[in-house]
Amino acid sequence: MAKRKTTVQKNKELAQDGLKLRHYGLRLRLVPTDIQKSKIHSFCGSSRFTYNFYLGERMEVYKNTGETLNSGEFKKSFNVFKEHPMFNWLKEADKFALETAIEAVDEAYDRFFKGQNKFPKFKSKRKSEQKYTTKFTNNNIELDVKRQMVKVPKLGWVKVRFSKEHRKIFQDKGFNAKIKSATVKYHSSGQYYVSLKYEEIIKLENEINWSLVSLDQIIGLDLGLTFFYIDSNGNKVENLKFLKNCLKKLAKLQRQLKNKEIGSSNYKKSQKKISKLHLHIANMRKDFLHKESRKLVNENQVIVLEDLNVKGMIKNKKLSRSIADVSWGIFKTFVSYKSEWNNKKVVIIDRFYPSSKECNGCHEKNTLLSLSDREWVCPKCSTVHDRDINAAKNIKEEGIRILKKLYPSLYVA
Ligand SMILES: [Zn+2]
Repeated sequence: MAKRKTTVQKNKELAQDGLKLRHYGLRLRLVPTDIQKSKIHSFCGSSRFTYNFYLGERMEVYKNTGETLNSGEFKKSFNVFKEHPMFNWLKEADKFALETAIEAVDEAYDRFFKGQNKFPKFKSKRKSEQKYTTKFTNNNIELDVKRQMVKVPKLGWVKVRFSKEHRKIFQDKGFNAKIKSATVKYHSSGQYYVSLKYEEIIKLENEINWSLVSLDQIIGLDLGLTFFYIDSNGNKVENLKFLKNCLKKLAKLQRQLKNKEIGSSNYKKSQKKISKLHLHIANMRKDFLHKESRKLVNENQVIVLEDLNVKGMIKNKKLSRSIADVSWGIFKTFVSYKSEWNNKKVVIIDRFYPSSKECNGCHEKNTLLSLSDREWVCPKCSTVHDRDINAAKNIKEEGIRILKKLYPSLYVA
């Protein structure tokens, strides 16, 4: 909470000069040495220990006295505690990471009090992904693009691998923003990552000049299962169905695992393969969603989307795999923040808006339309409709209706 407050405060001050803060992340593959690997494992452990320790203390104090232990007080007693020979190993850890772990407990409580999260839970060492976050102080975190190395406290310089996309970003505009923090992660498949969080001061965008926005700069999207989306211009973007394609492979690997003796080295190898495949699927999906969202934001001024209740739909088990697979939720997040960066607008329309049943030409409602009808002829004006393209056009129209209310200067016929 404290963090958010200062951002709001800073932005208020910056706004007077027509500026604002922008945050973004950069995730890179790490190639640590064996020594660095064991340090990463150990730092994840000490961060997790610290987090759990403070959480337990805070719960205990509250239970016994009804008082709230604050992180300032805890940090003091924690420093004394570290001097005990039994816990000396904590002194080898990155102290900024331990501080961040303590603050993370406070933040988890804040989110709980605000009703945004459930009550904070203890962190488990059995999760397939382990991580710790360290803070930037006195240049202790640095990215050297030329040498392809990142400096992390207590780890020193670690080799990183840039993707094609990263190289493009560095070539085009470099990455000159200030680093705020670094999160180091390792995955049970044996892969290591660092996520750098950047902060940059940028100019406040001018308000969009709505009187200049034309009809072809607005796009409506109908998100679906057969296609990832269909837009109001009639484009259909294939749903890559990553999971489905990889599912056979996954099933095979899981069968192999079953035939192996639990705990044997072959068993562990198999396990590693499985988690590697999971990671691969997640990465491919993210790539796809980044590309699609970027394209949409580059090519349009306004993007209109339906407010699908993804969570509600996932409860329906039959649909769940495909829906989770296409990741509409992540897609919306990507489209939204990329739009914000580029001074574009996202309009979310009500999910109960009957986008498929209304003829986009004459607005006649075709109440007889069933889910299996992919094509239909309007009973009134006889237009032949592709079900999804018609829906996307209606979504666009509904978006325009909402926009006109918000921005009366928008003039599109
Ligand atoms: Zn019609």
